Amino acid sequence: MPAKVFLADARSHNPKTSTLAKLERLLERLELGSILAEGELAAIKLHFGELGNDAYVGPVYARAVVDAVRRTGAKPFLADTNTLYTGSRSNAVDHADTAVRHGFDWAVCGAPVIIADGLRGGNWREVEIGKKWFRAVKIAGDFADADAIIALSHFKGHEMAGFGGAIKNLAMGCAPAIGKREQHSVRFFVKAKACIGCMACAAVCPSKAIDPIEGKALIDRGRCIGCGECSTRCPVRAISMDWETELPEFIERLVEYAYGAVKGKEGKTAYVTFVTKVVPDCDCSSWSDLPVVPDIGILASRDPVAIDQAAFDLVKAAPVSAGSVLEGKGGPGDDKFALLHPETRGSSQLEYAQGIGLGSRSYELVRI
Ligand code: SF4
Ligand code: SF4
Repeated sequence: MPAKVFLADARSHNPKTSTLAKLERLLERLELGSILAEGELAAIKLHFGELGNDAYVGPVYARAVVDAVRRTGAKPFLADTNTLYTGSRSNAVDHADTAVRHGFDWAVCGAPVIIADGLRGGNWREVEIGKKWFRAVKIAGDFADADAIIALSHFKGHEMAGFGGAIKNLAMGCAPAIGKREQHSVRFFVKAKACIGCMACAAVCPSKAIDPIEGKALIDRGRCIGCGECSTRCPVRAISMDWETELPEFIERLVEYAYGAVKGKEGKTAYVTFVTKVVPDCDCSSWSDLPVVPDIGILASRDPVAIDQAAFDLVKAAPVSAGSVLEGKGGPGDDKFALLHPETRGSSQLEYAQGIGLGSRSYELVRI
């Protein structure tokens, strides 16, 4: 049977159709009272946004999810994990500070912010999954210990995964640094002919794996942990990887981690995804470009694969926004993420996720 995916569109013309009012109606349709019980600890998994980024789902909407969880008698907390790369969220102190700067504070959201993998990423548990790449995955301790997870995701492009939605929010988002490293199996290299020697890549490499050699950058593949941060900073796209062989493995590893994040929480998860501000790159970037399609709305479902499939299809069907990086390069019916990141194939996330039993690509879209 197809999974239900509820859609509230982005149009608004009176208080009853405000984004907040629509989100509250979507949360009612999720019937959180049937998956949460009195006193249970419910993690609201979201992304607080890298400093400089403003495309993440904002605290006003997180508050609505907090209130909906509280009405069930469960105890909500807002949570994310530290990043693999250097930046404003690579340890719990900086991360919590960034969260507050972006408005994710008790006073606004009505729930505590908890960095789920601890001060320096050392708080994690092994979760047995018995899949192709992993017998067990490493999940941040406070996500593993939570009774339930409500994933509040922002749908956007991603330079390696193609797109980021609920699956990626669970996979990278619930993994400590060691688990993120296990997913990033790829190794990057510099195309010497294209490199202009600016060393912007070396400045952000968390492993100090990039050195200047004769005016060009050189990556020490023994030290590289495959985080991909250097490739997002290169102004001339001189950093690449073996997309043919290494990307499929990365996607499969990522999806297996998403499976592990919710393993043991069957019937205790729900998903809300904002298909608004669909920007080209991840919210981990310290900037946000113009959205590539007009705002579509908010989705809600009990199935992480169905909600990502629906978001993907809606973005595919949408026109391209004027002034965006895709202007003149595509239109309704084109895979916007393949246009943004030509080496990626985001739909492979969905295929593999359905294949390993994370959820269903088949969905019924219910407009509210
Ligand atoms: S950022 Fe790009 S161009 Fe600059 S040194 Fe690194 S690889 Fe070369
Ligand atoms: S060289 Fe490797 S570890 Fe360093 S930023 Fe690039 S991908 Fe990450």
